[in-house]
Amino acid sequence: MENFAQAATIDGVACPACGLLCDDLKIQRDEAGVLNVVEKKCAKSVAFFERPYREKSPQINGQPAKLEEAIAEAISLFKHAQHPLISGLSTDIYGMRAVMNLAETSNATIDHMNSKSSMRNLYVLQNSGWQITTLTEVRNRVDLLVVVGTDIVSYFSRFFERLIWNQESMFGQDTATREVVYLGGRDLDTSAGISPNGTKPTVLPCDKEKLPEVTAALRALISGKKLVASEVGGIAVSDLQKLADRLHAAKYSVLAWISSSLDISHAELTIQNITGTVEKLNQTTRSSGLPLSGNDGDVGSYNASSWISGYPFRSSYRRDYPDYDPYHYNTDSLLAEQEVDAMIWVNSYNPARLPPESDVPTVVIGHPAMQFKQQPAVFIPIAIPGLDSNGVQFRSDSSVALPLKQVRAASFPTLTEVLSAIEAGVKA
Ligand code: SF4
Repeated sequence: MENFAQAATIDGVACPACGLLCDDLKIQRDEAGVLNVVEKKCAKSVAFFERPYREKSPQINGQPAKLEEAIAEAISLFKHAQHPLISGLSTDIYGMRAVMNLAETSNATIDHMNSKSSMRNLYVLQNSGWQITTLTEVRNRVDLLVVVGTDIVSYFSRFFERLIWNQESMFGQDTATREVVYLGGRDLDTSAGISPNGTKPTVLPCDKEKLPEVTAALRALISGKKLVASEVGGIAVSDLQKLADRLHAAKYSVLAWISSSLDISHAELTIQNITGTVEKLNQTTRSSGLPLSGNDGDVGSYNASSWISGYPFRSSYRRDYPDYDPYHYNTDSLLAEQEVDAMIWVNSYNPARLPPESDVPTVVIGHPAMQFKQQPAVFIPIAIPGLDSNGVQFRSDSSVALPLKQVRAASFPTLTEVLSAIEAGVKA
């Protein structure tokens, strides 16, 4: 892959700071070598690319150490552990492959920092399947977007700019005529849903906790059922009926949700109601779900884990073969039940994502800017994919993997190099 680590201007940079993985950023390097995002930026991408580069050495119990010493300490912890855990898993595909190799060698359990929200989607996918679409299809075909329980832009800043109000679409659609409906949530900033010609979105607010019944009511109306109630969750049934009629009339509706924003009881039922609505609509027109995720590399992690072991995260090699148990193998309960005796926490992208505090000896392999409240036994700063090293990352829609470019020179090892060295030591 071409090396951009010294180039003054870099075009077409893919940004791994959120799951949209926008690949149209332009970055310039000033005379002091500092990166600036000069085109197609958002607050998250600026924070990601423009954070100053600082050398940082590995640490053992908070004290500076050589890389070999830190790796030797990590080997010692992992080699003697009966039930090791590799969690966090915020990395790209290269890194996740190395995680899987070490997990198999050390009989470890794996879990992702976003698994609580990812599992809401995965349970539905495993239980009933779903019809979902890609970001490219949305960009080129959507005529009615229903956003469930979120404003989207708090999580994915450039969603409307890139996918809804895009000036060009493949089939000549006038994108300014697209309609947007926000269903559920309170006090959302819905300004991003105003079309370029000034048309305001329809907003049907309700408490998020009411979304299971609201989405069930919409699903029933889409199926032609009559509801006796006059309102559901504070939304008039007549308004839900109007939405059902618009969905039936649309040529390509998309129902979007963000599982991490659905932090409510029965979130899975809400998602199942959404996907059930989509399924029903497809009997007479075209409709798709859009589960937005992919932050912290979560989509790439469960894809890589699935194609290597047959299961997404929350699986374990404790029994010498891949064992999937999403209830048992989750980081919080494994730590609370003292079921693990060593943990590696992988966190490549967001320095704020710290390991859960516990008494378990922990090796953190992650973003050099991480600051700890509880000092880990070992900290090894690594190259950030898409900034300090090349990489490959899956986009939110799970159907496209994009190359990440190294855009600056850095002296940190990659996650693959560190985990491979630990694996070699555990095997020896
Ligand atoms: S929306 Fe997400 S992927 Fe796009 S530039 Fe902003 S942080 Fe990066």
